Amino acid sequence: MLVEDSRTQALKFQLMLESHGYHVTVAQNGLEAMNMLLNSQTSIVISDWIMPEMDGSELCRAIRKHDFGNYLYIILLTAKDSKNDIIEGLEAGADDYLTKPVDDAELIARLTTAERVIRLESSLKQRNNEIALLSITDPLTKIFNRGYLNDNLPKAFKRAIRYNQKLSIIICDIDHFKTVNDNYGHQTGDIVLKSFVKELNSSLRKDLDWMARYGGEEFIIVLPETDLNGATAAAERFRSRISKLVTHAEGKDIQLTASFGIAAISHEGDKSYLTTDDLIQAADRCLYQAKDRGRNKCIGASI
Ligand code: GH3
Ligand code: MG
Ligand code: MG
Ligand code: MG
Repeated sequence: MLVEDSRTQALKFQLMLESHGYHVTVAQNGLEAMNMLLNSQTSIVISDWIMPEMDGSELCRAIRKHDFGNYLYIILLTAKDSKNDIIEGLEAGADDYLTKPVDDAELIARLTTAERVIRLESSLKQRNNEIALLSITDPLTKIFNRGYLNDNLPKAFKRAIRYNQKLSIIICDIDHFKTVNDNYGHQTGDIVLKSFVKELNSSLRKDLDWMARYGGEEFIIVLPETDLNGATAAAERFRSRISKLVTHAEGKDIQLTASFGIAAISHEGDKSYLTTDDLIQAADRCLYQAKDRGRNKCIGASI
């Protein structure tokens, strides 16, 4: 984006930049530039220093205060070349400056530097996003890991208690999974585990329910806005689908079942003393009973 109050100068720069393959938009002052930047994908701003409404250094400050999602590289063009003005421009947030009259070749060379910085910034941001995603993902099953659960279940729980909303969780544990490992080997066990998670994950209500790996072959499913009846019906649906799932691995068709413990917040009486651990423990007790009563079962309780 070229920010320049002189139309003739703006046109001259625009033609020159376009002849070098740049896509150029033009704003006549800082204020107009800010408005246009909010609705565009601009990555480099070349701004004049002296302009009406909002000058170059004010524009720099305004840009740096705002989060555009990507880094905006700012080059100030100024007739001023005293050291103090240059320092002022850089302090206001400019990345680079050129004094007028601008040499075309020099501006193009500075733009190449700008592009390099922008590429670096964007690859750094992409890498950071990947790391952030890795830090909450279970490497084997690709669903949320225990760390994500530890951060986000208490948040969902507090919200539900504070705003008197429904909330349920389901803990599920595969039945006799050790036998799968013993009979087919650990690697096949891993394949079965992934297939189990894929089936369960695809059974969740989209954009509302979520699940995390709680332990080896234990998972917690979080169901916001869901009471005990709703969660029990969901668990029964999961149980049934899992019992029909056939995983093909190592030339074998492997089937398994799982047991489900459900816990819901009842909202009868004072619930302010309850903690997330109380909810997990209640679901865990139900899971234990489901195992005790022969496995491949869903048992629930309210707290
Ligand atoms: P139960 O019905 O009582 O749950 O029997 P179980 O055999 O499933 O017993 P338990 O839940 O105590 O044992 C879980 C087994 O799951 C033991 C462990 O070796 C296996 N396991 C845990 N994590 C993984 C994994 O990532 N991959 C594989 N292949 N096996 C795992
Ligand atoms: Mg001017
Ligand atoms: Mg098990
Ligand atoms: Mg287990």
